Amino acid sequence: MSPSTPHRPPRPRPAREHPLVERVVAPRGGGGRRPPAIVLRDVSKTYGLGEIEVRALRDVTLRIASGDFVAIMGSSGSGKTTLMNILGCLDLPTSGRYLVDGIDIRDMDEDDLADLRNRKIGFVFQSFNLVARTSALANVELPLAYAGLSRHTRRARAQRALAAVGMAKRWHHQPSELSGGQQQRVAVARAVVTNPTMILADEPTGNLDSRSTEEVLRIFAGLNREGRTVVLITHEPDVAAQAKRVITLGDGRVLDDRRTAAVHDRPPAPRSQKSAHGALGEAHR
Ligand code: ADP
Ligand code: MG
Repeated sequence: MSPSTPHRPPRPRPAREHPLVERVVAPRGGGGRRPPAIVLRDVSKTYGLGEIEVRALRDVTLRIASGDFVAIMGSSGSGKTTLMNILGCLDLPTSGRYLVDGIDIRDMDEDDLADLRNRKIGFVFQSFNLVARTSALANVELPLAYAGLSRHTRRARAQRALAAVGMAKRWHHQPSELSGGQQQRVAVARAVVTNPTMILADEPTGNLDSRSTEEVLRIFAGLNREGRTVVLITHEPDVAAQAKRVITLGDGRVLDDRRTAAVHDRPPAPRSQKSAHGALGEAHR
């Protein structure tokens, strides 16, 4: 197989007056409808181009509307994290196209991609990924470090983000002094402090007890009600039941795609999480 890459090398560009993200987020003239937040066309990802190839994604075609709340399900190894890495522009597809807000990522240079990742997308991970021995406030301020904001403004925004996840009083605590649920709430505050339009979360409740899971899901539902697109990866049906649309992956393909609430409806009401017998299977609509 040829090792050629389907992606053009970044082309040189003159210095830009405005970062791409602002151009993308700016309202379009004529009151036109927003393009889908995400369009994937025949996206494949193959790891290891040597003797052993793993086809982690196979011709995935997907469209996610702006403002939707989507759960991606699937067993371990089905390609969920690979998909999230591509959606978050942390990795590139081996083939296929990916458009964010109608713009093909192949037409973006490194600066554009960095803008996209830093300002338009908020990431939340299973293991929180907070900086150790650093206060919650400083962790949440971190994504603002490069935004050219004054120290005072950064601090005020971080404090607001912590308050929004119910962690205002714990701003001075370090991660080791917080429970898992509290750490994840700080991580969510860090993800939203830049006011991103899209939240990507990879098994965000995987390490949490049922109460913390409910709290974190309630926060995601609130972010979605504010109009943000939320893509949440989980292998727990109870968690997926809170999304408006559930996509199931298997062996790198979309096996199932069902909508449970309209894009601009409120997210489904929180239900009791991680019920003792996991009896949710057929119980929900
Ligand atoms: P999931 O998140 O659903 O568990 P992943 O996207 O992590 O699935 O993995 C999908 C497949 O790709 C698995 O077979 C996994 O072993 C493989 N894989 C993931 N990342 C890499 C990598 N960096 N190199 C090689 N194989 C990988
Ligand atoms: Mg994974």
